Amino acid sequence: MGMNVYVFFVFCICVTSALPTSCGSFEDLQPTCSFLAPPARSSSTRGTIIDISHTYREDLPSFEEDDGVGVVIQLVASIANGSRANQSFLKMGVHTGTHVDAPSHIFQEYFDSGDHVDTLDLYALNGFALVVDVPRDTNLTAEAMQALNIPNGVERVLFRTLNTDRRLMWKKQFDSSYVGLTTDGAEWLRDNTKIKLVGIDYLSVASYDYLIEAHVVLLQNKDIILVEGLNLDNVAVGLYELHCLPLKLLKSDGSPIRSITAVYVKDVLSCNLVATLC
Ligand SMILES: [Zn+2]
Repeated sequence: MGMNVYVFFVFCICVTSALPTSCGSFEDLQPTCSFLAPPARSSSTRGTIIDISHTYREDLPSFEEDDGVGVVIQLVASIANGSRANQSFLKMGVHTGTHVDAPSHIFQEYFDSGDHVDTLDLYALNGFALVVDVPRDTNLTAEAMQALNIPNGVERVLFRTLNTDRRLMWKKQFDSSYVGLTTDGAEWLRDNTKIKLVGIDYLSVASYDYLIEAHVVLLQNKDIILVEGLNLDNVAVGLYELHCLPLKLLKSDGSPIRSITAVYVKDVLSCNLVATLC
């Protein structure tokens, strides 16, 4: 019995030491970390898609507005009124609800050079993403980012914050006390991770006091995409497949998106475990 325990212990050390010391990406992890292999796609696993978009509704909050988004859809022709078909008209800002920011949102030179939503990298917008819980007593500062121990291989991160607990996206009146990145938090992410997509659960990834500065830090190299207004109410911490698809709008600095996550490794892979691996 004692010998068996000893052998098992040695085996564990060998397996642990065989793990990579730094992970290029989750795709890179798969050959060495077999338990990260995606679950088989069968009818029983098809119910795992989680819609992390908010419905475009009139009382969705709008940045710095008290009265919400207002009317988004107008029925301009209706069968009830004698038309052959129902036909609606869509009207809203491109930074409404769940949406992405393009580099042209903050930089005039990028607006002039055409770095709009139609040019965003679809590979950055779709792939493995880590959902992390941010401690509820802090803004997204450099210190808080460092303490999260986001693994080296992570390229997409979605921050679930106090904003979700406070249900801010369900309140019509804009609330400037939302949690977001400070300038040094944004700098820490840019300088210490390979993250190419940052998502958050309110209308801006940047906190109100650092609104422009933090956007500048993240968008200035044109290699980080910002996803704002996510609905993370029903998303547990973990690793997911993420899909974000902006509309292919010409000369637009933002776009509404339909965003979903599909469970990849659920309840098994906590942030701390990933951090240990990497
Ligand atoms: Zn935006």
